Amino acid sequence: MSSFPTLNADLHCHSVVSDGTLTPEVLAERAQANGVHLWALTDHDELGGQERARAAANALKMDYVSGVEISVTWMGQTIHIVGLGIDANHAGIIEGLRQTRDGRANRAKLMAEQLLKVGIPGAYEGALHFAGNHDLISRTHFARYLVEQGVCRDTEEVFKKYLVEDKPGYVPHQWATLDNAVAWIKGAGGVAVIAHPGRYKLTALQMGELYQHFKDIGGLGIEVITGSHSPDQYKTYGKIAQHYGFLASRGSDFHDPDESHVDLGTLPHLPDHLTPVWSAFH
Ligand code: AMP
Ligand code: MN
Ligand code: MN
Ligand code: MN
Repeated sequence: MSSFPTLNADLHCHSVVSDGTLTPEVLAERAQANGVHLWALTDHDELGGQERARAAANALKMDYVSGVEISVTWMGQTIHIVGLGIDANHAGIIEGLRQTRDGRANRAKLMAEQLLKVGIPGAYEGALHFAGNHDLISRTHFARYLVEQGVCRDTEEVFKKYLVEDKPGYVPHQWATLDNAVAWIKGAGGVAVIAHPGRYKLTALQMGELYQHFKDIGGLGIEVITGSHSPDQYKTYGKIAQHYGFLASRGSDFHDPDESHVDLGTLPHLPDHLTPVWSAFH
């Protein structure tokens, strides 16, 4: 597989198997239509879409690496770790992800109770209606319900007024540990990548600890070019990648044609002084 930095690789997106709105097949077509050469579907805490995504990519003659985005609690904050090139049939990661998903239904009921208290009824059933996979009810599905109900104009507004810390509908949750998430990915033969580092509400000191600990336990990569980063952040996290010797990844984090600002395969290329994460795949 090619390892040049300007490869149109999109190694982060979501289907109906987690909180995206398109099927793996439609995503594959969209990626290819946008010129993607190497694609990964990275549903949250779930590998159920991998076979379909790979088959669809193969049919379109597009290179594919299997993927996942694991929810992790680290220093009391939620962070996301992407696993790429994993064996999607590996028992260890399948069981780990099952445990990670486990608390979602209960959390969703508690979120709905809070929303009811601020005058928004029916949110659990409403969110479930948007969830293509009932094992993976997420805040995104609640956000779509609140938009449908006219509570907010768009999901962006929902995540400002609801579902985040100190706002109605926020329920703290204990996800996987960082060590477990990285161990599951490595155990399944994959490469662990810190997703959208620019999004975390951690101090510079805590971020430094995150990078060093992640590296110590065998984490290899970091997202530099992502739909969550500004052009300034491309530079910031490119420097982090160089400083820690991380492989650099690129992914849109595409969820939905209307909700997502960045479409599959349309981000700038990786800067050519960085080592692309796809140099690790054969
Ligand atoms: P959950 O795993 O249930 O906590 O849901 C997390 C998902 O919510 C993320 O993967 C995003 O898709 C979505 N999300 C979180 N924060 C925002 C935001 N500020 N704007 C839009 N979507 C968001
Ligand atoms: Mn999401
Ligand atoms: Mn994420
Ligand atoms: Mn994502």
